[in-house]
Amino acid sequence: ATPTSIMVGTGRAAEMGVLFRKGDALQQLSSVGVVALDKTGTITEGHPELTDLILADGFDRADVLALVAAVEENSEHPIAAAIVRAARSEGVALADIADFTSITGYGVRALAGGADVLVGADRLMQREGIDPGALAEAEADLARRGRTALFAAIDGRIAAVIGVSDPVKPASRAAIAALHAQGLKVAMITGDKRETAEAIAAETGIDQVVAGVLPDGKVAALDTLRGSGQKIAFVGDGINDAPALAHADVGIAIGTGTDVAIESADVVLMSGDLRGVVNAFEVSRRTMSNIR
Ligand code: ADP
Ligand code: MG
Repeated sequence: ATPTSIMVGTGRAAEMGVLFRKGDALQQLSSVGVVALDKTGTITEGHPELTDLILADGFDRADVLALVAAVEENSEHPIAAAIVRAARSEGVALADIADFTSITGYGVRALAGGADVLVGADRLMQREGIDPGALAEAEADLARRGRTALFAAIDGRIAAVIGVSDPVKPASRAAIAALHAQGLKVAMITGDKRETAEAIAAETGIDQVVAGVLPDGKVAALDTLRGSGQKIAFVGDGINDAPALAHADVGIAIGTGTDVAIESADVVLMSGDLRGVVNAFEVSRRTMSNIR
C-alpha cells in the first residue's frame, strides 16, 4: 500500500463517518475474517425497558419494586436504570438502603428496608444457593424470547422474576447481512445467558454466539473465535469493551459509546449503528485492492 492510497482511503472513510485512527487499521481490516460484536449497545439499543415482573406466591408488586429499585438505584448497569424508571412510573417510594455491593457479571445486593435483597442473573442465585422454584420456568421462557431475565430474592427467598427488553437497533440486521455478503463470519459476545443471546442472534442473522462471558472474559472469547490464523475485528461501545478493543486485530468503537472504548479503538464510527462497520470494510477492501 502506498502512503498516498492509504491517505485517500482514510479520507474517503472519514467522509462516510468512519475515522481510522491509524493507517495500519485500514490495511489490517482487509484481511480480517471474523467480526465479533458486543451485544448490549452495539447490536441492541442499550436502553432496556422493564417488560415483565412475575411475582412468587405471597409477594406484592409494589413492595418488591420498592426494595429492588432501591438496590438498583446504586448500580450503573443499564438494567438498573430500567428497573428504577419502572418503579418511579408506578409511583413506588424506594426503600432505605445500606451495604450496597455490585457483583460484576452477576448482579447486585444490599440491605433494603432492613431486608437482604439480591437482584441478578440465575447464576447469582445458584452462587448464593437460592432455589428459583416455581419461577424457573418463567425465567427460561423470558430468555427464550430474547429478554434479559433476572431474579429478585428477599431474605434468601425468590420473590420475583424480572424481564428486561433491549430492542435491536433498526440497522443491525441489514448491516450483519452486508458483512456476510462480504464473506465475513459474524459473531456476538455477551454477558447475557445463552438463551437470550441465541434469540437476539436469530433475530439479526448472527452465526455464532459466545454467551455468559464475564467482563474480563471478552479477550479470551476473542482468542477462541479467532481460531487458527484468522484475523478478528471487535466492535463495542462500553467500558467493559476496552480491553477487547485493544486486543483485537482491529478494534472498532461505536462513536456514541463511552470515552474509554473510543480511546482503545483503532477505528471510530461517527454513527451509532453497525452501518459504519460495513463502510469501514468496504473502504478498506477498495483501498487495498487498488494497490495489489
Ligand atoms: P452485559 O454487558 O452483556 O449486560 P454484564 O457482565 O454487565 O454483561 O452483566 C451480565 C449479567 O449480570 C446481566 O445480563 C445480568 O443478568 C446481571 N447483572 C449485571 N448487573 C446487574 C444489575 N445491576 N442488576 C441485575 N442484574 C445485573
Ligand atoms: Mg455494550
